[in-house]
Amino acid sequence: MEWFNETLYPNIGQRFQVTKVVFREKTEHQDLIIFETPVLGRALALDGVIQVTEGDEYVYHEMLTHVPLTAHGKAKRMLIVGGGDGGIAREALKHPLERVVMVEIDRAVVDLCTKYMPGVSGGAFDDKRLDLVIADGCKYMAETSERFDVIVVDSTDPQGPGEVLFTEQFYKDCKRSLAPGGVLCVQDGVPFLQPDELVMVNGRLKKIFADAYAYVAAIPTYYGGFMALGWATDDKSLRQTKVEVLSERFDKLSIRTKYYTPHVHAGAFHPPRFIAEKLA
Ligand code: SAM
Repeated sequence: MEWFNETLYPNIGQRFQVTKVVFREKTEHQDLIIFETPVLGRALALDGVIQVTEGDEYVYHEMLTHVPLTAHGKAKRMLIVGGGDGGIAREALKHPLERVVMVEIDRAVVDLCTKYMPGVSGGAFDDKRLDLVIADGCKYMAETSERFDVIVVDSTDPQGPGEVLFTEQFYKDCKRSLAPGGVLCVQDGVPFLQPDELVMVNGRLKKIFADAYAYVAAIPTYYGGFMALGWATDDKSLRQTKVEVLSERFDKLSIRTKYYTPHVHAGAFHPPRFIAEKLA
């Protein structure tokens, strides 16, 4: 029986039993594989790094979407950078948004995830509110004049095509593209194994935004314990939104979740000490 060995770290890692390789190709941008596993259903890996599995994708997609949208409370326009599997878009479109722009560099990720893991996007790409742009998110941010209430960067790790999505200039362009009261959330690595990424991202965001912090979620296949999700906004009150207000806003949307709740939202901004110390 074959195994998929994740190559994100040189000297520690996880492996997945492979019951079937569903699809594999070197796209224009990255080495893409979709394979079947006995425990987590189908999984997508890019350049040897697990991106999404059918078994646990709800954790990351619910937390990277409902936290900023519920804290904002009246978002109408949202931008997703990356996110080609469609999970963020699926969760976002459950909110009363008027327009969601998704800027994904690799068309193959969208096409292949829609074909082989359709449950992740759940029809999001057919929603008329979604505008899919195939481009480098860094270039798009430098050029767009559109304003958004929420920007989510659902990128790969800071290597390969994703590297440009962790630069100070990119974050400055995100800030310029946020409407007043807007919030930026970014995929910020697993602090236990990628502490430098958390410190680097938070340090850069702190220079640009009035409030830069991170919140945590436990995603089984982002190996190494809690994942950090970077938070940045000029409205310091957003992060302090009371759980009663979060509940009032979220519950009336009747969105079925498996991980996110307003209490989990509020608690996520109180990370364990070893993470909080890196954000100080
Ligand atoms: N949830 C995953 C994680 O936390 O690592 C990320 C999943 S999603 C598949 C990552 C997406 O970022 C991929 O589809 C990849 O093609 C896209 N991406 C990487 N670099 C990009 C760039 N410069 N501009 C736009 N999309 C990019």
